[in-house]
Order: sequence, then C-alpha cells, then structure tokens
Amino acid sequence: MHILRTVAELRQWARTGRAQGGTIGLVPTMGALHAGHASLIRAAKAACGQVAVSIFVNPTQFGPHEDYAVYPRTFDADCALASAQGADAVFAPAVEELYPAGAATFVDVEGLSSRLDGASRPGHFRGVATVVSKLLIAAEADFGFFGQKDAAQVAVLRRMVTDLRLPAKLVVCPIVREPDGLALSSRNAYLSPAERTQALTLSRAIRQVEALVAAGQRSAASLIAAARQTFAAEPTLRIDYIELVDWATLEPAETARPNTLFAVAAWVGQTRLIDNTVIA
Ligand code: AMP
Repeated sequence: MHILRTVAELRQWARTGRAQGGTIGLVPTMGALHAGHASLIRAAKAACGQVAVSIFVNPTQFGPHEDYAVYPRTFDADCALASAQGADAVFAPAVEELYPAGAATFVDVEGLSSRLDGASRPGHFRGVATVVSKLLIAAEADFGFFGQKDAAQVAVLRRMVTDLRLPAKLVVCPIVREPDGLALSSRNAYLSPAERTQALTLSRAIRQVEALVAAGQRSAASLIAAARQTFAAEPTLRIDYIELVDWATLEPAETARPNTLFAVAAWVGQTRLIDNTVIA
C-alpha cells in the first residue's frame, strides 16, 4: 500500500491507476479508523479498481472550542486497517499541504450548512465542503464513499458535487453499529463506561422511531415527541436536536415519507454524538 503525502503524489497515483484501466475511489476520513470506516473501504474496493483512503484531521471543520487538538490520531493502526481492507493508498497530508500559507479559498454550501449539525457548529460544513472538494479534485475521484452516519454531511456534499459539477459520484454506506446499537464513532473513545451506557439513548430513540414508522405513524410531531420521551428517561444527556427533515434540503418535514431523515444529536458529558435513520 502506498503512503502519499502530497497532492502531487496523490494525483500521480490516480493517473497511474486510471491508465491501468481502473476507476478511482476515495474514502475521506479523519483517521482513528474503526469498523464503520472499514465498511466504506470494502465498498470502495468492490466498486473501484483503485482505492485511496485519506486520513486528515481537518482543522477548518472544528470550532474554536472543539476537540481538534485532542482528536484521536492513530496513524500506524489506521494504515494497517486500511491495508487489510484492500486500500491501495493512504493519503495523509500535512495541514500546509491542503491549506498552503495564506489559503483564502473556501466552499460554502449556503442554507444547508446552517441546518442540523451546522446550526450548533457554525463553520463546520464550510470546512467539510472545502476539504472534501480539495480531496475529490486532487484524487481525480470517480467515486467518493461516505457514511449515512453523517447524514447532514451527505446532504451538503451532494449539493456541492452538483453545484461544482464535480465528476465524482457519491456513494452512501449504511451506519455500522456495535452489537448493542451504538453507532460506531471515533469520538466514542472519549466516553467513560457510564457515558457509554447513557449514549445508548440515541440508538434507542432511533430504533423506536423506526418501529413507529413501520407501524404506520408518520407525523413528525408524534415521532419527535416519542424520541423526546426516550431521551427524558436519561436526563444526563443534553439534546442538541431531534428533527425530521427532507434529506436533500434538510428543511423540516411534516410527515415521514421516503427520503426523509430522522436525526438526533446529543451531548453525553463533553462528547457530542449523532445518530439517524432514513425513512424507506
Ligand atoms: P470521520 O473519520 O468521522 O470523518 O468519518 C469518515 C467517514 O466514515 C464519514 O463518511 C463517516 O460518515 C463515515 N463513518 C463514520 N462512522 C461510521 C459508521 N458508524 N458507519 C458508517 N460510516 C461511518
């Protein structure tokens, strides 16, 4: 497996791969790889001739009081995992490689970027859209692989790819969960044993909403009320949002219908966790 450090190396790698007849798949990550990331890499390898996993803790998507400095960095283990899942290359640039001195160019997906996670994390999706556009362009990617876990991010990136007329197609992979339901996240490493138990409230609320929808309950107000009740049983959690939205626009939806997104975010101690379900 190649370890690439510069955009020029990534571009060269992609062009060599394409010349050999393969399509190029890119899996953007911030490292601290787990089974959720592994599922993206496997999906990429099944669909593309050549797969690069980017590992880059992107400073521009963290707020000033967020966890950029302490975000887990486990590069050697990440390379071992990426290689075991079939990645052909890891792209791990320095910050100055993606943000040259004086960098002043940003991608701002208006509207969408201030909804759901964007409402409580101003500037977050601007950072995400900026870095993902740089990565898709540098890798000359045919396909980019993303997790439904970050469903609002998917909506922002779909809009961005359409608006910038990027050639990459986005592939969205299902949420990978622990056996007890907790959605895998690099930030789960922050949880104490007690918080780990409290965190199950998110997936419990999601499962409950799925059951209610399956039983014919479609009104946003009643689904949100049911989820709020589930959270009420665990008052140590601080709800950030509980919303039913159109997955394309992230605007509130009044009824659960295909392609609406039921999404929750909550603080468990100092750790902010998210979970969701897309209505079939
Ligand atoms: P991150 O490293 O947290 O930026 O995530 C990199 C990619 O992995 C994003 O597209 C995430 O949505 C995806 N991802 C993270 N956790 C999961 C999970 N539990 N299941 C599926 N995909 C995930």
